[in-house]
Amino acid sequence: MDFSLDDDQKAIRATVRDFVRKEVMPLEAEVLRRERAHEPGLTRDELRELQLKARRFGFWGLSTPQDHGGMDLPAVTQSLVWTEVGRTFVPFRFGGEADNILYYANSDQKREYLLPTIEGDRISCFAITEPDAGSDAANIRMSAKPDGDDWILNGEKTFITNGNDADFAIVVAVNDADRGARGGGTTAFLVDRDMGWRSEFIPTMGEGGPASLVFDNVRVPGRNVLGEVGQGFELGMKWIGRGRYIIPSHALGIGERALQMALDYAKTRHTFGQPIASYQAIQWMVADSEVELEAARWLVLHAAWTVDQGRDPRHAASTAKLYGAGMINRLIDRVLQIHGGMGYTRELPLERWYRQVRLLRIYEGTDEMQRLIISRDLLRGYTKVGGHLE
Ligand SMILES: Cc1cc2nc3c(=O)[nH]c(=O)nc-3n(C[C@H](O)[C@H](O)[C@H](O)COP(=O)(O)OP(=O)(O)OC[C@H]3O[C@@H](n4cnc5c(N)ncnc54)[C@H](O)[C@@H]3O)c2cc1C
Repeated sequence: MDFSLDDDQKAIRATVRDFVRKEVMPLEAEVLRRERAHEPGLTRDELRELQLKARRFGFWGLSTPQDHGGMDLPAVTQSLVWTEVGRTFVPFRFGGEADNILYYANSDQKREYLLPTIEGDRISCFAITEPDAGSDAANIRMSAKPDGDDWILNGEKTFITNGNDADFAIVVAVNDADRGARGGGTTAFLVDRDMGWRSEFIPTMGEGGPASLVFDNVRVPGRNVLGEVGQGFELGMKWIGRGRYIIPSHALGIGERALQMALDYAKTRHTFGQPIASYQAIQWMVADSEVELEAARWLVLHAAWTVDQGRDPRHAASTAKLYGAGMINRLIDRVLQIHGGMGYTRELPLERWYRQVRLLRIYEGTDEMQRLIISRDLLRGYTKVGGHLE
């Protein structure tokens, strides 16, 4: 068993680390200042400029196939890159990416939606959640009724990331309520904002914020069905599944940076004539954080490796997502505690991370949904205890 990285992985990680340190981290003070003033940390143009700069370094489309101009990196390498990006709280991500399910588009749709999204000329959002259907996504109610060659969409989506900025939405709606979501009764549609849906910002604990999308008799041409009629729920689950090892990969970067902050602070902050690092109470918080960070790292890399092996990654990805999301919440809480009153101020990014990472236990499958998947896999014998080594 070899736990080391190969030369390619090391080189890519080093380049990304350098890029984040030189080009992204210097923006942190300004991002914090803007967010405190309730402005976006980065404007759309600034994000694009950074992404184009990264493109000149060769970083464009981490997961995008090479025939679409991307890098098509193996999942393990993508995981390493996301960890590096997680070290900064600047809301940066590499450009050249599109939602994985846009590759189910036909050639006209690819020209109109996929390619401009990869280029960053259009912004998408993915909408399945509704006010009465979150974890229970199969219970969605938004209706899609045929009308000649068109479809008429009615209903509401909620908590949609990028919902306020998106030029178009990938929306899952019910075309046949009798068949239900799992029986082929839902369909995914590509719906331009100017077809008539409107969005409303939802204030949250975190910076930025999702939106609700309202569809009131929105007419969508038949050519805008993504994939097949009846394939909506299946595509929705594919979209959600992709993030499950990326989310904890990003959390690892946050954890590494925050734990380093704790070490630095503990060595320089003195109480009762000694650095707080000399107290066992602090040492234990450091040790627990390191152990959990390492445990999460190997779960995450194992999940990514499972993807690269072409095996079914769902069990490993749920395990990594569940543990990684819990780990980063516990770790940030300890690091904030080590910083005492300073940790609670808005001078440091700790309270920001504290709010931000809470989301990780909720979106793209709550903790409880991950537990449901993991236990169901075991109870039904789909995965054996210790089975991944067989
Ligand atoms: C900031 C943010 C961004 C988001 N982005 C998107 C997006 O881009 N697109 C999109 O479609 N959605 C998005 N979501 C929605 C997100 O996926 C849902 O919020 C999530 O799936 C949980 O659904 P819910 O909020 O309806 O909670 P509910 O499903 O109502 O769950 C409430 C509680 O009950 C628990 N629970 C539910 N069922 C069970 C069960 N069977 N057993 C045990 N416990 C259970 C849950 O785990 C949770 O603790 C986003 C949400 C947020 C907050």
